[in-house]
Amino acid sequence: MATELRERKRLRAELESVMGRRGLRSTSQRRLILDRLFEIGEHFTADDLIADVRQADSSVGSATVYRTLRMLVESGLLHEHHFADNEGTRFELHVSDEHHDHIICLSCGKIREFEEPLIEQLQERVAEQLGFKLQSHTHQLYGHCSDCSAAPAKSPRSSKA
Ligand SMILES: [Zn+2]
Ligand SMILES: [Zn+2]
Ligand SMILES: [Zn+2]
Repeated sequence: MATELRERKRLRAELESVMGRRGLRSTSQRRLILDRLFEIGEHFTADDLIADVRQADSSVGSATVYRTLRMLVESGLLHEHHFADNEGTRFELHVSDEHHDHIICLSCGKIREFEEPLIEQLQERVAEQLGFKLQSHTHQLYGHCSDCSAAPAKSPRSSKA
């Protein structure tokens, strides 16, 4: 927990310095966007963040938020996800030395994170067998979460072989 707090502080300082260097001159806007970034939770869309920021300060334009997101992605401080849930690009803070993959519910759009050492190992092995040195991967699983599969089916259940 202490490590996590230190890591968050470090990440926040790094984010602030990139934002300052790359042209977001207003200190108060920088602080506000940072506060919202840390509060909003994982896997947010640009629209989520814009709504959040503008609720606190309507003078911050959406272009500023878009520009900030872009520069943070380019600096590697934010991860960009393209999930097949039609919500567009989702963003997530990149905490170094931390890795997880995602499973997404096709009914309600819920996104859960997981880390499975066996999958990670197998991916390494596959890459090695193909003569690749693995740099990164995205692994996304799609299905229906327990809440959604418990709900009464709207259409007749397809028979499983
Ligand atoms: Zn993984
Ligand atoms: Zn669901
Ligand atoms: Zn995630």
